[in-house]
Amino acid sequence: MTTSYRQADWKEPLIFEHSKPGRMGHMLPELEPELVTEAQIGDLVPEELLRTEAAGLPEVGEMQVLRHYVRLSQMNYGVNAGKIYPLGSCTMKYNPIINELMAGHPKMAGQHPLQSPATTQGTLKMLYNLKKHFLNITGMDDATLQPAAGAHGEWTGIMLMREYHRERGELDQRTEIVVPDSAHGTNPASAHMAGFKTVEIPSNEHGMVDLEALKAAVGPQTAGLMLTNPNTIGVFESEITEISKIIHDAGGLMYYDGANLNAIMGWCRPGDMGFDIIHSNLHKTFSTPHGGGGPGAGPVGVKAFLADYLPVPDIIEEDGVYKLDYNKPKSMGKVHGFHGNVGVSLRAYTYMYTMGGSGLKESSELAVLNANYISRQLVDAKGYELTFDPEKPRKHEAVVSAGPMLNDTGVSALYISKMLLDYGMHAPTTYFPLIVPEALMIEPTESEPVEALDEFIAALKEINDIAYSDPEKVLGAPYNTAVSKINEARAAHPKTICLSWRKYCQLNLDKE
Ligand SMILES: *Cc1c(COP(=O)(O)O)cnc(C)c1O
Repeated sequence: MTTSYRQADWKEPLIFEHSKPGRMGHMLPELEPELVTEAQIGDLVPEELLRTEAAGLPEVGEMQVLRHYVRLSQMNYGVNAGKIYPLGSCTMKYNPIINELMAGHPKMAGQHPLQSPATTQGTLKMLYNLKKHFLNITGMDDATLQPAAGAHGEWTGIMLMREYHRERGELDQRTEIVVPDSAHGTNPASAHMAGFKTVEIPSNEHGMVDLEALKAAVGPQTAGLMLTNPNTIGVFESEITEISKIIHDAGGLMYYDGANLNAIMGWCRPGDMGFDIIHSNLHKTFSTPHGGGGPGAGPVGVKAFLADYLPVPDIIEEDGVYKLDYNKPKSMGKVHGFHGNVGVSLRAYTYMYTMGGSGLKESSELAVLNANYISRQLVDAKGYELTFDPEKPRKHEAVVSAGPMLNDTGVSALYISKMLLDYGMHAPTTYFPLIVPEALMIEPTESEPVEALDEFIAALKEINDIAYSDPEKVLGAPYNTAVSKINEARAAHPKTICLSWRKYCQLNLDKE
């Protein structure tokens, strides 16, 4: 291994183990008894809510607290600390510091959503403009910023589809949503949550929607189709207008999973491809940080004929004044409080403004170039292959299969991903999409310079060579991370997962 990388050690004492009775990180003057009496506290806080004993927090000095949190942050992997974060479909791009300065600015962060709109005009204007830019980028007519994530946006979008069919009196008949087998797992889940049955159709030998299979699956029972384009293989569905026509002719609607717009910004728009409803993850394409479950923003855009069903409130402008509009009798209701995660929207808005229209277009161009730069060079390594039309350019991501390596050496994609951690690199998305065996889904984004791409390619090729010469070595990885290979099934199982420092369990740390 050419590079070594060592993360903070998890074996350091926990902050609770550092605790010494009476030690503290602050010095406050004694409370002056005449200022607050026990009786007054009792008046303010109901008796049953008062503690009878101390909270059991660790008693430590400020330095220990600081070191504790810095150490924890070093045990984690972050795009700001690691070398490359090529987690396909997730678009882990760099989040410029100015986004954080804007979102953390006291004049933005200190607002309360229940303030009168007269005092929040700047925020409302920002959200109003963000929506306009979003519509411009995606080619839709109206949108809501409420949904808090991609999956939440999908569910909202499918509920809008439901409202549409309901109003036409066809909801009882239109019970099915068609989803290709390359779809993100959230697609069938969202359709199901919204009360539809999903019908899966296979991809063809090019990794694209099979038109014959689509025609066979579609009929008067079809509520719509959910599609990602470019799809999760990284291939652009070039027959998209034909696909739209098949669905529309059958009376269904076209749903676009635009979680990731990184390949198309400024180049083409889902609204022009025939999609009626879309969502997009501001926390992917527009650079705001995500991972570990949130917070996110998954705005949903629609064509004009669906606008009446959008959630309330909408933000409207009259004579330069921004107002909340609840006057939407056909609205599906609310899907989140107020205007969704405004801090996430503000980061995305800042990103759009710092990049400008031409900058967004160029970032897509670079994201596509980077994905192809990596995938073209991996295919000469014995253990990797590009399934589905290897000659065809990919868009913002490329799915490389480690199938040949597994066959030849017994080293599967999982172990390649684990060993990459030893090089200080985050693993690609592994085992997704499901239609590629031993999938490594690589999305470098536009953030990375060519040197980082070269280093990543070199690491994957080196792991390839080690797998062929000394497979056991790869199977034992990772060696340099804070925690070595954990038992993933047990670590995620509610019966064995341990979230209390007292049990400080061996379970999670057990080797497989
Ligand atoms: C990330 C992603 C989603 C889900 O988005 P969340 O914000 O994680 O809910 C859906 N579809 C695709 C293609 C994605 O990449």
